[in-house]
Amino acid sequence: MNISDFYTLYLTSNKVTIDSRKIEKNDIFFAFSGDNFNAATLAEDAINKGAKAVIVEDKNYENSNKNIFFVESTLFFLQELAKYHRAQLNIPIIALTGSNGKTTTKELIHAVLSQKFNVQYTFGNLNNHIGVPLTLLSIKPEHEMAVIEMGANHQKEIEFLSQIARPNFGYITNFGKAHLEGFGGVEGVIKGKSELYDFLKSNDQFIVVNENDPIQVQKTDGYDLVIPFGRRDSEFYFEKIVENNCVGLIYNQIEAVSNLTGEYNFTNLCAAATFGLYFGVEFTLIKKAIEDYTPTNMRSQIVKKGEITLVLDTYNANPSSMKVSLENFNHFEGSKTIIIGDMLELGEESATEHLQILDLAKSLNFDEIITVGPHFKNAEAGVTSFLTTEDLIAFLKETKINSQNILLKASRGIALEKALEFIN
Ligand code: ATP
Ligand code: MG
Repeated sequence: MNISDFYTLYLTSNKVTIDSRKIEKNDIFFAFSGDNFNAATLAEDAINKGAKAVIVEDKNYENSNKNIFFVESTLFFLQELAKYHRAQLNIPIIALTGSNGKTTTKELIHAVLSQKFNVQYTFGNLNNHIGVPLTLLSIKPEHEMAVIEMGANHQKEIEFLSQIARPNFGYITNFGKAHLEGFGGVEGVIKGKSELYDFLKSNDQFIVVNENDPIQVQKTDGYDLVIPFGRRDSEFYFEKIVENNCVGLIYNQIEAVSNLTGEYNFTNLCAAATFGLYFGVEFTLIKKAIEDYTPTNMRSQIVKKGEITLVLDTYNANPSSMKVSLENFNHFEGSKTIIIGDMLELGEESATEHLQILDLAKSLNFDEIITVGPHFKNAEAGVTSFLTTEDLIAFLKETKINSQNILLKASRGIALEKALEFIN
């Protein structure tokens, strides 16, 4: 089917979805099939629910009278439609990638820019080869800019997503030890994430650079279209403050303290404030955006439970984010227990990385160290280890943790947040 013909239909649609349960009137439904499931079987039903069009991969279900269209690949068609739509848009598109902090930074940039503009942005963590096109297709005529999160765990993925989103501005949160397996080590991570820079450079677009990050500086050296922040002599400079374990920044003597814990969030805040100032948002409004933003997504979230201060950081974990999280928690006043779970997807380096984190944890000022998961389960003196979150829960039902502060951090697969309700 021809993209430009279909585009007219798209323009009068409500939204594009791949989830049959979310179909509303006038939606376009892309029937993505799984290994054991032919989504084309849902086509008629989708039309009955009011869908404007359905895209199927199975010719047997094609019915152009009912706007059920056959394509060779629903995924390819979705990506091409997104590309086509992006080409018609005349608004700045900001792309974010990096090992840690993409979602947090995306939410902060959105909060800041929304003070002045109507901004579309990646919903949740939909940052892959399906999520990026869906986000682009959710951009409507009323939107004045968009912030797109791009995730990757292999080479060439960011290049591919950049070709679809064609960003005008880009920022890499950091280069860390995440998805080492797929990228092939830290050098691989740097190369893979830098594909965003390659795209921006070859298309004369802007790069926001954290000048305290030597890799970012080196990778953008000699390039003219940079928007630098972070150092005293940078175009944008902010001072750091920490109040009640939450991090904030000072600009022109105005303080803006977020609800995020973790000094690493300072960089995320600086990036958001830089985008805000660059696009002419007054700092008093940036302050408002930063102070109003409350994480509810298990990322750097502080939860009070009676007398206990809990740091809920169970959305994900890798050696870089684990390290900064432990170092940050070490600064909390009062007694401290850490409950840390396995860091997944580390490949060959897994054993060493887990040991290094344990060594770091032991060198810091924690009253108790609890680990969850097989990778950490090298039970040593001074460490309490559980194989699963369920085992930890069984323990918590019997035992009270006597600490004023408790940190919970692990990879998604460990589902450590399930233990939250059993801590008291
Ligand atoms: P994903 O790859 O799952 O999309 P992400 O890059 O979007 O992750 P966030 O979800 O924003 O990252 O944050 C996940 C965790 O990473 C945070 O809870 C925190 O522990 C850590 N983190 C956030 N920002 C930084 C940073 N700038 N440097 C290091 N670690 C960070
Ligand atoms: Mg994310």
